[in-house]
Amino acid sequence: MSVNQQAHTGLPYGQPQPGYQGYQQSGYGGQQMPGVHQSQYGAYNGPMPGYQQPAPPQGYFPPLGFPLKGSPASPNSDTPALAPNILGALRAPLPTSGAAVPAAQPAYSQFGQGDVQNGITSSAVQMQRPSASQPFIPGTAPTPVSQPATFQQYGPPPTSVQQLTNHMAGMQIGSSTSAPPPAGLGYGLSTSVPSASGSFTATGSGLYASYSSSQTPPSVNMSHGLPPTSLSPSLSLTQPAFSGPPMSAQRLPQAASVVPPPCSTGIGPSSYPPTAGAPRPPTIQGSPLPGQVPTGLPTSQPNHVSSLPPHPAMSGPPLGPPMAGLQGPPPPPTYPSQSGYPVQQNGSFGQVRGPQPNYVGPYPGTPNYGSQPAPPPPPKRLDPDSIPSPQLSELPPQQKPRHRIDPDAIPSPIQVIEDDKNNRGSEPFITGTRGQVPPLVTTNFLVKDQGNASPRYIRCTSYNIPCTSDMAKQSQVPLAAVIKPLATLPTNEAPPYLVDHGEPGPLRCNRCKAYMCPFMQFIEGGRRFQCCFCSCVTEVPPHYFQHLDHTGRRVDFYDRPELSLGSYEFLATASYCKNNKFPNPPAFIFMIDVSYNAVKSGLVRLICEELKSLLDYLPREGNMEESAIRVGFVTYNKVLHFYNVKSSLAQPQMMVVSDVADMFVPLLDGFLVNVNESRTIIVSLLDQIPEMFADTRETETVFAPVIQAGMEALKAAECAGKLFIFHTSLPIAEAPGKLKNRDDRKLINTDKEKTLFQPQTSFYSNLAKDCVAQGCCVDLFLFPNQYLDVATLGVVPYQTGGSIYKYTYFQLETDQERFLNDLRKDVQKEVGFDAVMRVRTSTGIRATDFFGAFYMSNTTDVELAGLDCDKTITVEFKHDDKLSEDSGALLQCALLYTSCAGQRRLRIHNLSLNCCTQLADLYRNCETDTLINYLAKFAYRGVLNNPVKTVRDTLINQCAQILACYRKNCASPSSAGQLILPECMKLLPVYLNCVLKSDVLQPGAEVTTDDRAYIRQLVSSMDVAETNVFFYPRLLPLTKADVDSDTLPAAIRSSEERLSKGDIYLLENGLNVFVWVGVNVQQSLIQNLFGVSSFSHISSTLSTLPVLENPFSKKVRSIIDMFQAQRSRHMKLIIVKQEDKLEMLFRHFLVEDKSMSGGASYVDFLCHMHKEIRQLLS
Ligand SMILES: [Zn+2]
Repeated sequence: MSVNQQAHTGLPYGQPQPGYQGYQQSGYGGQQMPGVHQSQYGAYNGPMPGYQQPAPPQGYFPPLGFPLKGSPASPNSDTPALAPNILGALRAPLPTSGAAVPAAQPAYSQFGQGDVQNGITSSAVQMQRPSASQPFIPGTAPTPVSQPATFQQYGPPPTSVQQLTNHMAGMQIGSSTSAPPPAGLGYGLSTSVPSASGSFTATGSGLYASYSSSQTPPSVNMSHGLPPTSLSPSLSLTQPAFSGPPMSAQRLPQAASVVPPPCSTGIGPSSYPPTAGAPRPPTIQGSPLPGQVPTGLPTSQPNHVSSLPPHPAMSGPPLGPPMAGLQGPPPPPTYPSQSGYPVQQNGSFGQVRGPQPNYVGPYPGTPNYGSQPAPPPPPKRLDPDSIPSPQLSELPPQQKPRHRIDPDAIPSPIQVIEDDKNNRGSEPFITGTRGQVPPLVTTNFLVKDQGNASPRYIRCTSYNIPCTSDMAKQSQVPLAAVIKPLATLPTNEAPPYLVDHGEPGPLRCNRCKAYMCPFMQFIEGGRRFQCCFCSCVTEVPPHYFQHLDHTGRRVDFYDRPELSLGSYEFLATASYCKNNKFPNPPAFIFMIDVSYNAVKSGLVRLICEELKSLLDYLPREGNMEESAIRVGFVTYNKVLHFYNVKSSLAQPQMMVVSDVADMFVPLLDGFLVNVNESRTIIVSLLDQIPEMFADTRETETVFAPVIQAGMEALKAAECAGKLFIFHTSLPIAEAPGKLKNRDDRKLINTDKEKTLFQPQTSFYSNLAKDCVAQGCCVDLFLFPNQYLDVATLGVVPYQTGGSIYKYTYFQLETDQERFLNDLRKDVQKEVGFDAVMRVRTSTGIRATDFFGAFYMSNTTDVELAGLDCDKTITVEFKHDDKLSEDSGALLQCALLYTSCAGQRRLRIHNLSLNCCTQLADLYRNCETDTLINYLAKFAYRGVLNNPVKTVRDTLINQCAQILACYRKNCASPSSAGQLILPECMKLLPVYLNCVLKSDVLQPGAEVTTDDRAYIRQLVSSMDVAETNVFFYPRLLPLTKADVDSDTLPAAIRSSEERLSKGDIYLLENGLNVFVWVGVNVQQSLIQNLFGVSSFSHISSTLSTLPVLENPFSKKVRSIIDMFQAQRSRHMKLIIVKQEDKLEMLFRHFLVEDKSMSGGASYVDFLCHMHKEIRQLLS
């Protein structure tokens, strides 16, 4: 045997690969991706004499002590037959007709500018494109600027609003609606004016019933909903709420009782009977201001959160009797303390708001929002019974606020979530109606697809879009969709049907290339159809012709998923494939760091042991007996070791490549194998790897060459695939992509802070482009003991649609379970490869911005080397024309991808939205959870190019504008002292505050640079459910759990004041699960849960709860297991004993409280938002 012989297997490299230049999305007029794939690996594409030489490259030697038997690539080996055989078998399910289609087939010529296809990459093919004959909608014409997805400029600043001086006067108060907010306006409208907007009906039940009974195809007929009638100006908008029936809208729980609430200020009616002190009629104390609606009438608005505590800065005369302060007229805006308040610069990132000298925050010691974090406040928490007494006691008496906010009186996430569950959890969500707002992500509900994509695939910030750009700008509500194209559905919902049109392929609009969908209109007896996106009329080809019934609907309507469903798949033809050739099944390559740290921690052995069994669970297509995915193995430290695991060998063979500067793959045959065929030899390899490196002294690693090697191996095998890289340290060994330690926490809160999020070299971005071109997705498992520059190492995983997992200070005992569960989920999850996603929209709006883990070489096509079932892409839309209430707005998301069996497919999701000319309709159909998902991603991308505080200011400003616009245009006139929130957005302040004080935007002292970079990337791919629980963790009192039922104990708000010393709580945020134990918990409960006799014996280092045979233990473990199953990652379990040092960490997640890093409490932030809104309105 001579390793020299390996070289000849490199033949495929030596062969020029005709014309393939990567993954060029030249869809629009042959636009080229900026010189991506040529330079780096040009040598591999062309003849490479050096590589074909039989002599081994330098440093390429068989290691000692590893068996090398036989010639791994003997001339008579089975290689030539092996791959084709496998491929042939796997291709069987493909339509033979498609496979045989030559490149010149007619279907190909349809490939035009609008195509979502990533296949045609040869330059020759591109030149054939009849681009001139394919007119394209001007609005969607791409700009020639290529914008890498990750590093786009921060978006345009919110439209600047008038610059306003600060009027803090009168900030104090309004009536707070305690408890059941009055059936007020904010939400009242949505139900009390149901008939106003035809197709939108907040009262879902009737609508569902009528739809399902009549089986009306909702979407095909665009006139099916009456256009929303114009509502009169804002005042009248609110009126129906008073006269209307009690709300039955799903989302409006409190609306059920239209009891005029006592106008208490944050003082719950229960605790403060109206008779206390002054009479507390539901009316204003004192005379109403002109234009102020007396709140004694049921006009008080449900979301009027008032009783914001007076600003300490507002010195001056008492504002009247205490009660009057609640609703009283704003004090004159001339308090001395305000005189120096500078004009506020709104919006633009360029205009950083200056210091605000006289503004000291709602309370002393609280942060100046958006500017430098205040010194950590004393860890004093908000006590509902004594709001912020410690600080206030130091103030002159006249500055003391006279009113407290009852935390129970401000909008509660728990209440909103519970109400939605109760109102919408019992009935299925039927997608037949345009513009329906789905139940919240926290509600369990069944979806029935009747023409629009399930909210599991697409969620929107609003389901009723302003008709004009001006209106959209006025409201500042971002128009965005969070799309999860390959989302996993619950077992009781059917996955998308696969439609096979055979050789002709899917039917598309001639002009914009939109795919056939329920919104296309068949005309002329069915001989043509008019495109719902661009209005172009296209001939129906004979094979697709069908007669129309008397309603104009095709008689095969229900037989064709693409006519009747919101989501479905098409089998793609060869013209959707690279080089018009059907793809090979993808491959998985496992690449294991075997440097000193990895070996010593037991990690290498653990991975190898796990892989032995995990390889039996590779993703399979439907009913296939075994997975089509081939596997390969590499280990590395400063050099790379490739393994030949061909089934015909007696022992695995290792080939070492130490010339990491010019990475190549030393073997082709035998590197990627079928698991079942090579099982024995794979197991042998996995047994030997830990032994081989057991005594290693090598501490240095390379990183970029590892990715290059994996990518080259996939390229050589002509397939897409995924690299699983297990890596432990900063790659400082001499090699391309070598990094230095540039961590510097001193940069935090400076203008250079953004560099901490940026990669330290552009090398990895270029590498990522090459990977995307090959369909090489990278999943990275990190096990750092110190800084390893996640911001740089994460570039390739991020831009290839991959995932990063991080296990800092990995320890076998405590982290093994979490890592193995993550690895199992990651290996087994459904994933599409070599994917391109295009979002088409009807005329009037278009997709302008994209957020997530992917790569873009033009402005429209989202390229994903891999896309798994947990990844989302958030897409923002902007107007480029007017929309109409009649036709609404349509989205079509088309994802072209290669399945795990190597089948090329198109997954189509369609969604129809309403359009409105009244702002109230917009605000009534918003989804705050989705809005937060968008805002968080917007902000997290913003920190790459902007100071963090600028990003925070922008977020605050935009949300203040959203709420001010509502107040100005949609709410009934009322005291300026009242904070009025739209029903659908009443949680916007609390959730926004959670985003603002998250680790990325306001890090605590214990948060590392790597943690921040990690979180930043993680959030960028999260779906709405994940961002929801990540920013506002779920907190459950375990001791209140009913051990005899399947139900969960009712969640409580994430605040320390909600915790009782006698109880045990669970808090989860998608990454961690905390079990908090109060000091006074009954001993029997401790015994039952932890198996120890007392509080002091509980170990805080437990990573799992002991398995004990008692109902309480079983119940708690089942809850944790259930939560683990709901999350895409295995959460780390952390036991926190009250008053223990870990409690600091736990408190960080009690997001309604002040944070140690200066983040505001919910109450304080609400006050601040109120002030901002008032500034905008004044
Ligand atoms: Zn069209």
